[in-house]
Amino acid sequence: MLAAVVLTGVLLPLSGASKNVDSSGEEKFTLCLDPGHGGKDFGCIGAKTNEKTIVLRVASKVRKLVEKHLADYVNVVMTRDKDCFVTLQGRADIANKSHSDLFVSIHVNSVAKSNKRRKTIAGCQVYTLGLHKTAENLAVAKRENAAMDFEPDNKESYADFDPDSLEGDILFELTQSRRMDQSIELADAIHHNLSSTASRQQMGVRQAGFWVLWATSMPAVLVELDFICNPDSENFLASEKGCDQMAKAIYNAFSSYLNTYGPSLLGREVKARTL
Ligand SMILES: [Zn+2]
Repeated sequence: MLAAVVLTGVLLPLSGASKNVDSSGEEKFTLCLDPGHGGKDFGCIGAKTNEKTIVLRVASKVRKLVEKHLADYVNVVMTRDKDCFVTLQGRADIANKSHSDLFVSIHVNSVAKSNKRRKTIAGCQVYTLGLHKTAENLAVAKRENAAMDFEPDNKESYADFDPDSLEGDILFELTQSRRMDQSIELADAIHHNLSSTASRQQMGVRQAGFWVLWATSMPAVLVELDFICNPDSENFLASEKGCDQMAKAIYNAFSSYLNTYGPSLLGREVKARTL
């Protein structure tokens, strides 16, 4: 059952031409931005702010930058543009039904109250779909997947998803696929830019079993910007300047990605400049 779901839901639409055409008849690249959580689901809670607020602000800033600088090439879709609850499957549906060419899920990290490093742990992590090789990666995926606990009918909707038993052969196929190569390339670029543009420490490009990455049918990454439990990091995450820098970092990484993959998808030259 799992294999069938994965084969139809994830593996088949590997790359495919973009199906989004604007009013002038020109094909556009569709970028789906997914600010995590929202509404009754606050995500991680800090001393003065929370994850759902920060990630909506950063995603909205990324959208503004893309619409300002890349409007000729890119159409932006948001899974939410206000403080509302969207199910994990709802997020994947928005990306899949809009034929998005890329899915970027934006989150903020935290560790348990009992963790001795709670006040000092800092840095960004960028995930692609895969087997969590460490307990730390598994903990992040479990917390993000826990958004499904807010959904009344979640047992039925997510019955087939067991991130602990994603079969090796499916993952092997995934890692061999172009979709996975593209996801890793974008993850690398975002990870690099969050350091160079937004001075976040680098904690690595990683893999884990996130529902939204599993259920989307295009290259997809999940970004953990920094740790809200660390007071210094929270100050940065909560600041206008911090959000501007993190948005610029994601924009810059996306620009590079678009320069590489845009021409073949759009059938024309792409000149996306970084900021
Ligand atoms: Zn989150």
